[in-house]
Amino acid sequence: MSTYERIDIAALELDELESALERLGHPRFHARQAFQWIHRRGVTEFAQMTDLSRDLRRRLEAEFEIQTPQVIRRDVSSDGTTKFLLELADGKQIESVFIPDTPAQTFCISTQVGCAMRCAFCLTGRMGIDRNLTAGEIAGQVRVLARELRMLDTRFNIVLMGMGEPLHNYESTMQALRILADDHGLSVNPRRVTLSTVGVLPALERLATEPVMPNLAISLHSTTEEQRDLLVPINRKYGLKELLDACRRFPVKRRERITFEYVMLKGVNDSPDDARRLVRLLHGIRGKVNLLPLNEAANIPFERPSDETVNRFAKIVADHGVTVSVRKSRGRDIRAACGQLITETARTQTPGRRLAMLMQQGV
Ligand code: SAH
Repeated sequence: MSTYERIDIAALELDELESALERLGHPRFHARQAFQWIHRRGVTEFAQMTDLSRDLRRRLEAEFEIQTPQVIRRDVSSDGTTKFLLELADGKQIESVFIPDTPAQTFCISTQVGCAMRCAFCLTGRMGIDRNLTAGEIAGQVRVLARELRMLDTRFNIVLMGMGEPLHNYESTMQALRILADDHGLSVNPRRVTLSTVGVLPALERLATEPVMPNLAISLHSTTEEQRDLLVPINRKYGLKELLDACRRFPVKRRERITFEYVMLKGVNDSPDDARRLVRLLHGIRGKVNLLPLNEAANIPFERPSDETVNRFAKIVADHGVTVSVRKSRGRDIRAACGQLITETARTQTPGRRLAMLMQQGV
């Protein structure tokens, strides 16, 4: 039987694994043991599951595989941010980032290979979409990074802010969050997870009905329909007004807020008028603003505003009583900052293109 015909056991939620084992004629509790080995202890082979009988391990081996993203490369920034290039079972590559001390420890993970949203200032968007990640591949990034960094027993936060649009891959993203939240796995409380989205409205409405929900961050970036149409093209389908109405209805828990991310582009959306319009738009929403001064890159036709401009904008927002923060960008020297994650799959990567990419990155 080839690898691809076996089920990826790491992509199953605990109750799915229990049913699967039952069907094979094994007691359900063995599912908990296997789940713990994979998700809590990060093992990659059935042979390492030493409290399971030899016979069961053999049966599992025949039915399942444990897909584990492979670390191809690891870059450490001068600020401690670490970017991992991971290879998936089919040879596709993604990037995941560890950001230390913010003040928490944070993993920034991907939900798709590439991204279909094509936001005007985002390098990942330039790649276009290759495919969705499976729940196993999404949760697997956390498992692999935590294992590599010896953090399997440490508390950490997760932000779905790597490559891809999580609400464009809804099922797998939510399934991954359930796997990560399971007490028999890494037990990551959804309150420590933030899902960032451009606002794919039908999926956002669905998220509002989920029993367990991550924190929500909305990539707003603009205060007018016309401008957002250009910067965040999905706005042409799901406009600013509808998006903000959906946010107004979103069940935000007590003492919590929706984060509105606002990338700052010099001379484009960084004026005092923009700041005042932003405040007006957020009226009646339990929200806070996170300003993201642009991380510049070759090919990105925008510039980063000065610190003075950013601070002036932030002060106007704060003076109107809206909580505002400025995102300190991390890992810029290794191209690990927001919107800078980009990979080519092994298959399309010829030496010439690889070199061109490295030169473009200034390596
Ligand atoms: N697809 C999701 C998550 C991706 S990235 C989303 O769009 O929300 C997380 C944030 O980084 C988004 O707000 C995104 O718009 C922003 N971003 C993208 N490119 C950037 C850049 N060059 N500089 C600063 N922020 C950027």
